[in-house]
Amino acid sequence: MEEMIIDARKLYRLPWNMADNGITWMEPTAQCNLNCYGCYRKNIKDSHKTMEEAKHELDFYESQRKSDCISIAGGDPLLYPHIIELVAEIKRRGIKPIVNTNGIALTKELLHDLKKAGVFGFTFHIDSKQGRGRGKDWEGKNELELNELRLHYAEMLAAEGNISCSFNSTVYADTLHYLPELVDWAHKHIDIVHTMVFILFRYITPDLPFDFYAGDKKIIFDEIHYHSDREEVTNLVAQDAVKEIRRRFPEFEPAAFLNGTKKADDFKWLLTERIGTKDKIFGYLDNKFLEMVMSAYHLKNDRYLSYASPKTNSLGRATLLNAWGINKSVRKALGKYLKYIGTNPLRALKKVHMQSLMVIQPVDFMSNGDQSMCDACPDITYWKDEKTGEEKLVWSCRLEEPMQYGEFLHTVPRKTSGKKPEMENQ
Ligand code: SF4
Repeated sequence: MEEMIIDARKLYRLPWNMADNGITWMEPTAQCNLNCYGCYRKNIKDSHKTMEEAKHELDFYESQRKSDCISIAGGDPLLYPHIIELVAEIKRRGIKPIVNTNGIALTKELLHDLKKAGVFGFTFHIDSKQGRGRGKDWEGKNELELNELRLHYAEMLAAEGNISCSFNSTVYADTLHYLPELVDWAHKHIDIVHTMVFILFRYITPDLPFDFYAGDKKIIFDEIHYHSDREEVTNLVAQDAVKEIRRRFPEFEPAAFLNGTKKADDFKWLLTERIGTKDKIFGYLDNKFLEMVMSAYHLKNDRYLSYASPKTNSLGRATLLNAWGINKSVRKALGKYLKYIGTNPLRALKKVHMQSLMVIQPVDFMSNGDQSMCDACPDITYWKDEKTGEEKLVWSCRLEEPMQYGEFLHTVPRKTSGKKPEMENQ
């Protein structure tokens, strides 16, 4: 029997749904100052929305769902001329504004102004296939060498104070082996890095055994923005990432997930929560711990938690001391913590932190042509059908499809393909 790397039955299914979610996604501009290889969006100069349009989108989101935070993405949102006003507007509505950026346009002054406007957190997208710094310092740097850049941004936020700091990286078949080192780096900076997200690369490639249709019109595959003319590995799954991380950290244990729309045991968003000091991880918090936190937060705030504040993340010791009686994983971590300070009582002075690690597995093709998306997509965004005037929430990872074809493309197994369409994961 095949080894079960993650057992869905032992995980907490995050309670997020379409109407009540941790996150909503907003793109005030499609302009970017990078052209990342794996990007899902066209880079369009001067594509900034007006502030009125942005406010209208916010009204629409609020009419459709409760949301703990709004990820302001793009394009790069720091190029959006009204970014400070937009952050202030989201904050005014009682939602946490999170800026998803490559960081290039971030200066100390802009950061300070964004903090004053109410920014809650940043997610920096940094990986080695962004074409970053052509001719400059970051050209040709691998994932580990880019940790210096990650640290630069983490320290910048820490100096400004009380801003949540996350990093996203797209993971490709040839960069998968860096995951243990990235997880280790995040541990070393657990005091200022609150979340690491690994997004598994997806693109449309010539070897996919499907034809693409908009309605009954067949689409030529290389018209689709996110396509590659060469063969690529586009079916890495969360289990591959976990297997890789466990090479170095055998005790690595995810606790919660979002399933796929077509498969209950697809781990579309796979969340691991760990607790420790900068030099030692005491343990991985379990499904029941996350259920407790998510339920308590919802009871208090009437919405589901997505990003926790840096202050909350630094309450590791209080968590160990207060929650050990009600949670097995906390009890286990407390045992390790007591041993740790038992051998050197001065260690009791060290702060204990919590940190989140997420693996995101976007679209998967089923052999019958069905597409499995993240159930209760947290990164859902606004789209207006210009023909009918209808406004909708659509998957941001595939926004180019309704923009280009007026609808999401559907896939049909290619009859002439010699290949058996074996696309389903696991
Ligand atoms: S469906 Fe796409 S946009 Fe939604 S969460 Fe998954 S990857 Fe992100």
